[in-house]
Amino acid sequence: MLDKSIVFMRSLAAGEIEQEVVFPFPAIDPDEGETLGAVIESVDQMLEGRDEEFRAWDVAGELPAEFLEEMKEFGLFGLIIPEDAGGMEFGNLAYSRTLQQVARHDASVAVTIGAHSSIGMRGLKLYGSDEQKAKWYEKLATGEMIAAFCLTEPGAGSDAAAVRTTASDEGDHYLLNGSKIWITNGGMADFFTVFAKTGEKDGKSKLSALIVTRDMEGVSTGHHEDKMGLRASSTTSVYFENVKVPKENLLGPLNGGFKVAMNILNNGRSGVGGGAVGAMKKLIALSARHAMERKQFGRPIGSFGLIKQKVGHMMVDCYASEAAVTMIAALADREYEDFSVEAAIVKIFSSEAMWRTADEALQTAGGGGYMRELPYERIMRDARINRIWEGTNDILRLYIALTVLNDVGQGLREMAKSLKGIFDHPIKGFGLLTNYARKRANWATGLPVSSKTELDKVHVALRPQAEVFEDLTRELAAMVDRLLRKHGKNIIDKQFATRRLADVMIDMWILVCVLSRVTASIESKGLEAAEPEIQIARVFAGQAKRRTRANFRKIDNNDDELIKALAEHAYQAEGYSWDVI
Ligand SMILES: Cc1cc2nc3c(=O)[nH]c(=O)nc-3n(C[C@H](O)[C@H](O)[C@H](O)COP(=O)(O)OP(=O)(O)OC[C@H]3O[C@@H](n4cnc5c(N)ncnc54)[C@H](O)[C@@H]3O)c2cc1C
Repeated sequence: MLDKSIVFMRSLAAGEIEQEVVFPFPAIDPDEGETLGAVIESVDQMLEGRDEEFRAWDVAGELPAEFLEEMKEFGLFGLIIPEDAGGMEFGNLAYSRTLQQVARHDASVAVTIGAHSSIGMRGLKLYGSDEQKAKWYEKLATGEMIAAFCLTEPGAGSDAAAVRTTASDEGDHYLLNGSKIWITNGGMADFFTVFAKTGEKDGKSKLSALIVTRDMEGVSTGHHEDKMGLRASSTTSVYFENVKVPKENLLGPLNGGFKVAMNILNNGRSGVGGGAVGAMKKLIALSARHAMERKQFGRPIGSFGLIKQKVGHMMVDCYASEAAVTMIAALADREYEDFSVEAAIVKIFSSEAMWRTADEALQTAGGGGYMRELPYERIMRDARINRIWEGTNDILRLYIALTVLNDVGQGLREMAKSLKGIFDHPIKGFGLLTNYARKRANWATGLPVSSKTELDKVHVALRPQAEVFEDLTRELAAMVDRLLRKHGKNIIDKQFATRRLADVMIDMWILVCVLSRVTASIESKGLEAAEPEIQIARVFAGQAKRRTRANFRKIDNNDDELIKALAEHAYQAEGYSWDVI
């Protein structure tokens, strides 16, 4: 029986390896796998050989209406909707894999589906009442209604709680007023999950989620934004002017909208990750072909070490991203209570891996990569947004680090209280110790910290890499402790330090996902066939170890203050102030 309340990374930061969460590596349910196989094949049939069209739609800045109809007929808007409402009822794993396949062909198409299923209607799936689902599922499954997620406003980007759109209680309805910007699918959506202010507590806005449909009077949308990438996907402002939203359209708890928004984004992350993996697979295929075909200095450029270095690293990035995306999709499918830190890591790692891959693939293609005739530059433009939306990677890094620092800080506060209790009342006092506090006290006294310090479910061929993980776990726990002792409450303003902690945690989650995946491969294919994957694990463990050690050293030995002073200098001078001539 799985304990679904266990949170892998949050436990890890306190020195505990909850390996049952990540072993065995998830596999798709055979029934769902059969349907998924057929869907993947049909996606390829539908999208293969249409590169010229994708390029034309990128230039035109929209998907043609006929193509949207094709997507609807295929059922691409019903991927996560139950079968009895006309959908395919895919879990997160199959959904993410489908988006991956679409993204291998075109990102604008994948994002149109993703904005609908990952975030636009995800709130209905997670929080909708039976009546709400009965009312909208079928239309959303056929694509008669396309969905959009409306959170961002001019004054509320990363600071989502600063939303100013209001929904005032008017008895039998809410009166909605305000505007949202940069809403994906805005121009074509009929179903909007809208976040608006419904109250205030201690000077802070309380948000609620509302279902708004285009047929309501007072709903309108702006022009298609002229964007860097994903140009064929629709991005518009959405305006609400005295819109009467029936009370029954409240989604989730009143004034609980912030949590609803965060949960939607959290649950949708395997979509972004799946898209990133799809783009990486396409780029690797393009680069491998080009490396073999293009000759310079009388040899295929692929025979040169510098090209192999690029393509080899793309393989590691793609494999590692795929392992971690698969893992969080499975955690969502198995209904783990909290995987928000792991999901944030997947969003960061896969979006940055995709960016590195796009950059190196374009470099491998040389000047041709810069030309619009080839898809590299478009893929690179399309890739860039993934580091910005659904929580910028910077904000997500803060979230990852501050979540575990808060856990441990709380443990420390409780420990202080308990220690006081020990002096007042020795027996009762020890009973008061929390798990974390007990571990911390054991570190101090040299007693064993935890029984969960080993990663022994990893295949024996990967024992050195498992040891890297075990060593890093001890160092992570020590790092969290050291940061809290050094900065105390001020840690919240020490963003250089919290970023380093987040980077360590990113490396560790990705590493454990890779080790789990390679273990499963060895067990199913045998050592010889899994050898390339074992090499990936070796490379990634080496990288993770080097990066983590460097981050650890920098807690006390860094040039953070110098860098901050230089930024202040630029702010004051309003730019760079040392022209040579
Ligand atoms: C193409 C596109 C599609 C989009 N689709 C949608 C959609 O469908 N629905 C929707 O609601 N939104 C959507 N967005 C909005 C997107 O989610 C936001 O752009 C994103 O959340 C960042 O907000 P911002 O742009 O206001 O940046 P800001 O919040 O202004 O951030 C600017 C920079 O400051 C950094 N920063 C901010 N606060 C801090 C801090 N406390 N500490 C350190 N650094 C900080 C950020 O990381 C970032 O680097 C879309 C945006 C784009 C470009």
